[in-house]
Amino acid sequence: MPSPFGHSIAGLAVAWAADLVPGDRTWRAAPQGVSWYRRAGDGLSVVCALLAMTPDLDLAFTRHRTYTHSVGAVALVGLLAAVAGRRYAPRHAARIALMCAAAYASHMLLDWLGVDLYPPPGLQLFWPFDSGWYISGLDLFRQTRREHLFTWPVLAQNFLAIAQEMAILVPIAVALWLVRVKALARFAPEQSRRDHPAQ
Ligand SMILES: [Zn+2]
Repeated sequence: MPSPFGHSIAGLAVAWAADLVPGDRTWRAAPQGVSWYRRAGDGLSVVCALLAMTPDLDLAFTRHRTYTHSVGAVALVGLLAAVAGRRYAPRHAARIALMCAAAYASHMLLDWLGVDLYPPPGLQLFWPFDSGWYISGLDLFRQTRREHLFTWPVLAQNFLAIAQEMAILVPIAVALWLVRVKALARFAPEQSRRDHPAQ
C-alpha cells in the first residue's frame, strides 16, 4: 500500500489529466505572471490531492480498506462534489464532480497495484455490491508500514517505498503538467480578460 505522499501526487496528476479533457476549461487556465499555486489549478487541485489521501483515514476509525476503498465511496465523493460545485461554481459542477471522484478513485488504483502484507490482502473494491477483496498482484508499489514509525527498520522500509513511489509517479505528474501547460496556454488570454475586464 503506497504512502500518503504517493497518493497525493497521484491526486494532483489526476487533476492535471482532467484538465486535458475537452470542454470549458478556460477557468482552469492561468494568465501570465500569476502565482505557481494558480498555475497549478489552485484550490481544486489541492482538493484533488487531499481526496486521493482520504480513504486511508479509515485507519483511525474502522477496519482498513473496506468501504472507504470502494466504488460506493467514489460515487458518494462525486455526489458531494457535485453538490458543492453547484453551490460555488454552478457552470463547472459536472467537471468538478468528475475530477474529485477520479482523484479519490486514484487511491484505489494505487492500492490495487501495490503490495499488501496485511491479511486479507487487497481492498473491498466493489462495496456495497460485493464484499470480496481485490488486489492486482502486480506489486508495483512496496508495502509501507504505519506502526512503530520511528524505528530504524520501519524508517528504512518506508523510505524505500516512498522513493519507489516517487520514481514512478513524479515523471507521470511532470509529463501531465507539461502537456497541461501547453493545452491550457490557448485559454490564458481569455482568462486574463475575465480577470481584468476593463483592459
Ligand atoms: Zn488505502
